Amino acid sequence: IAQYFDVHKSFGEVDVLKGINLSIQPGEKIALIGPSGSGKTTIIRLLMTLEQPTAGKMEVNGKNLWQMKKNDKLIPANDKHLREVRGDIGMVFQHFNLFPHMTVLENCMSAPISVKKESKESARKHSLEMLEKVGLSDKVDLFPDQLSGGQKQRVAMARALVMRPKIMLFDEVTSALDPELVGEVLEVIRDLADDGDMAMVLVTHEMDFAIDIADRVIFLNEGVIEADGTPAEIIENPESERLQDFLSRFR
Ligand code: ATP
Repeated sequence: IAQYFDVHKSFGEVDVLKGINLSIQPGEKIALIGPSGSGKTTIIRLLMTLEQPTAGKMEVNGKNLWQMKKNDKLIPANDKHLREVRGDIGMVFQHFNLFPHMTVLENCMSAPISVKKESKESARKHSLEMLEKVGLSDKVDLFPDQLSGGQKQRVAMARALVMRPKIMLFDEVTSALDPELVGEVLEVIRDLADDGDMAMVLVTHEMDFAIDIADRVIFLNEGVIEADGTPAEIIENPESERLQDFLSRFR
């Protein structure tokens, strides 16, 4: 369980997140929607612990991640816990960030071997399983530049999955793709959601997809959570005018 209590994030003078309260339950599927610049990526980066909050509290499994030092700076509360939390989180970005000099299979095997100290054999076996899950069994020996954008994005997913994350974060994973490649990537995410166990947080502009797979939709606007509820409440029957206005851009 990941929890945010009144989390703030500023970059210099700019307040990007202005008091976020949020909890993510095991296995929950959350779609994060909102206008450009509202802070969606910043929330994802905080969850990933790539950034730390400027104020507020973040807990994972009841343990505090950051603590306030005298000079008003937050530092890791406990290095070991932070490492454990990082190990439980997988992330897929808009740009695939694959290693260009490694094959598809090597891309997937590298983190389990270097971070988790898995044996080469076990990393290989598990990577092949995950590549099968994303439908790329026939591409394992190719290099990233021999793949389409949709295939690259599926490799990125397999690479995150081999670390057996408890939470997967997806940040606009289809927005850099040609329209005809979007479907195959959404299909893989849908399969992962159907598998059940893993919690998922998806930043997406694909509203129909969010309705389909999310248990919960969060509407972020100017650094504040403006609405939080089921897809039916938030997307199909939005109450606030701002939310209606935002959604009308996708119809
Ligand atoms: P988009 O949908 O366009 O990706 P977003 O909702 O994900 O937007 P963020 O990327 O979280 O929004 O950015 C929110 C605001 O924070 C933006 O105004 C952005 O310029 C600012 N910001 C993000 N990262 C930094 C940074 N490292 N330094 C300074 N400002 C930043």
